Amino acid sequence: MLKDSPKSHAFFERAQKVIPFGVNSSHRYWGENTPVIQRGEGAYVYDFDGKSYIDYRLGFGPVILGHAHPFVNQRVIAAIQNGVSFSATQEYEVRVAEHIIKMCPSVDMVRLDNSGSDATRHAIRLARGYTGRDLVLKFEGAYHGDYDYMLWTTPDSLKSRVGKRGEPIGHKTSQGVPDLVSQLLLIAVWNDREGIEKLLKEKGDSIAAIIVEPILANAGGLMPEPGFLQFLRNQCDIYGIVLIFDEVKTGFRIAPGGAGEYFGVQADLSAYAKAMGNGYPISAIGGKRDIMMTIAPGKVVHAGTYTGNVVVTAAADATLEYMQQQDVFGHLNHVGQQLMDGLDEILTRHQINHHIHGLPSLFGLTLSESNPKDWRDVVDTNLELSEQLLIELVNAGIMTDSDPQQTWYVCESHTSEDIAETLNRFETALRKALQK
Ligand code: PMP
Repeated sequence: MLKDSPKSHAFFERAQKVIPFGVNSSHRYWGENTPVIQRGEGAYVYDFDGKSYIDYRLGFGPVILGHAHPFVNQRVIAAIQNGVSFSATQEYEVRVAEHIIKMCPSVDMVRLDNSGSDATRHAIRLARGYTGRDLVLKFEGAYHGDYDYMLWTTPDSLKSRVGKRGEPIGHKTSQGVPDLVSQLLLIAVWNDREGIEKLLKEKGDSIAAIIVEPILANAGGLMPEPGFLQFLRNQCDIYGIVLIFDEVKTGFRIAPGGAGEYFGVQADLSAYAKAMGNGYPISAIGGKRDIMMTIAPGKVVHAGTYTGNVVVTAAADATLEYMQQQDVFGHLNHVGQQLMDGLDEILTRHQINHHIHGLPSLFGLTLSESNPKDWRDVVDTNLELSEQLLIELVNAGIMTDSDPQQTWYVCESHTSEDIAETLNRFETALRKALQK
């Protein structure tokens, strides 16, 4: 809590005078618990009073190797000596594209961007340009970025409990998004094959893209039911729809080739971001050659002043190279599993109904009797206790997200000792949350 960290508190007061709510992304604001961080190292972040936190927020997911990772930083420092922005083809961007193509089975070609939102937005434009159609289908509770086409029925709609079961509706999660945009959007229920089949029979020929988080990581980390992603693949083939995997969270995290590799289902286009740069702002669209080549003069525009700049491509080059040399994923799975098992054991011992979803490198925790299958089920879990628990955790020096729907992440710098310490603190935090 900020009041227990006087220097951080004073700094946050200063920030709020010049930055609305003192944050540069609305998702970071957490009232008196808003994190104010001076520095990070490995699996730890430190506030302005020197208080340390074991970090499972990891910058909302990107920091896959650890904060201030020497292998990544050294490459960036060496690269920037020769200039950072040329708006011209340079060495590191080609190396990054080559790494992605090598690691991700469905990718023939790559274009680089700077954020997850950039990548999904461009992927949607590309799908529309390629198919000549306008409609896009997304899932309830999925988040694909901060722009008008996708700010509908996102995790922020949770407390509004919008629509009825089986009748998903577009709920706009930001003022300023024109209502007209909803006419370009269809909303589906996660894992609901019947509903999707019905919708596609009616509108399939007008749909440009189905965009999907292969694990519903922004809504509890819900897994696809076995065969669900393949079902989407087949439906897209039937109707000539472009299947977009939003791998912003899963890419280079759940496996070297992300969800495409893990689930063995090939998307037409994939959006990558977070883990590919270990926290540096880089993203990518990758996909089939014929679709990617629609980014052609006179056809689909993809542009950016900073896309493929030296700073971020040097970082991604080092991050992706390191992943191919070291057993990063073995380690993530090991410490992540230790954490999942430990949380499960503590909650079971305290007789708290709970479910842990996702995979060791990225998992969600919901407090509920029945196992949530879709976002609406997540809405019905014990959110009050979950939210209180997250507050007690951050007070105890465990950094997660303020939103219980968001996943926990582990990084290569977490050790088994860090996990054991986390579990001790978790149990204390849980006791406190239960008393509130
Ligand atoms: N897609 C997914 C699945 C995400 O989780 C996010 C951000 N959390 C985005 C897209 C948008 O990425 P960014 O915040 O980098 O724009």
